[in-house]
Amino acid sequence: MQFKDIKGQRVLINRLTEIIDSGRVSHAQMFLGPTTSGSLALAIAYAQYLNCENKQHYGEGAELRADSCGQCPNCRKYEQLMHSDLHFVFPSATTTTVSSKPCSEDFQEEFRDFLNEYHQVGSEDEWYARLGIENKQGMIREKDADNLVRTLALKSYEGGYKVVVMWLAERMNLDAANKLLKTLEEPTDKTLLLLVAESRDRMLQTILSRVQLVVVKDLGMGIPEERRAEFAQMFVSWMRLLFKLDMQTLSAWVDQTATIGRESQKRFLQFVQESLRACFLKTVAGIELPGELVFGDEKFDIFFPSMITVNNIEQMNQAVNDAAYAIERNANAKITFMQLSFTMSKMIKKR
Ligand SMILES: [Zn+2]
Repeated sequence: MQFKDIKGQRVLINRLTEIIDSGRVSHAQMFLGPTTSGSLALAIAYAQYLNCENKQHYGEGAELRADSCGQCPNCRKYEQLMHSDLHFVFPSATTTTVSSKPCSEDFQEEFRDFLNEYHQVGSEDEWYARLGIENKQGMIREKDADNLVRTLALKSYEGGYKVVVMWLAERMNLDAANKLLKTLEEPTDKTLLLLVAESRDRMLQTILSRVQLVVVKDLGMGIPEERRAEFAQMFVSWMRLLFKLDMQTLSAWVDQTATIGRESQKRFLQFVQESLRACFLKTVAGIELPGELVFGDEKFDIFFPSMITVNNIEQMNQAVNDAAYAIERNANAKITFMQLSFTMSKMIKKR
């Protein structure tokens, strides 16, 4: 992926390309930020830029001052995630096909498919769903660390940087982390280890102190394009139900929403917040809904925004925030969405 394909993060990207251009690439880095920040996509784009044979520069004033070319042989292989010097390590668990001692090597193809399908912003839940192990906790084990150390010790195939991207590095168990320490301390030439993690708290201090941190802020723009239509549909039917407050249909909607998984629920709530904000701007300032937020239902697009006013926007926003916080902390999804529905229904009528 080129930097231009990543949403937002322009300031950070410009800093990253500047560091690469100045030749000060640190051999072990940690991209720290929530999945929705695009931290994984950034790490991969970073490695692509580093290996690009024809780096593009657009000048000081440009929003994006530099990017990989997307055309050279290295870029083309990176775009397909098939570069022989690009390796992925990630949490795994036993599945129906791998019944003992699972490791990342066993699931490389599934992982590439997953990256492609979710445009490199898929969540941990979505990854486990792809492996068919929704109820298990994946882990990065000693075997993964062994493979990683061996990979970095080999000569690069294509003469450029050899890169290992470890996604969800906080899922390393203690054995794996200990194996990694030596590699972090004694780098080999032209190797790059990019750890991608969501939580600083869950990382071992011994690892944290040996990597250069790249903090990736969540810009709240991580809703993948292909899910927007689905969320828009959920939003439209939900808002209609809130007007009617027909309990039977509403509880069917809540039941359905409770099944989509925690990560998707959080993203949906993020979509709801974006939508409410856009509707509010339309009501108070006449600003048209942005293209990605047109709900695809003509009547709704015309009439709904006027329901969101200065009298209810703040309270609705707070209610959605509270629900997202509850979901984050494993609260019961049915209860959370039912409560939120009642609050929202009241608020809408307060316009
Ligand atoms: Zn290139």
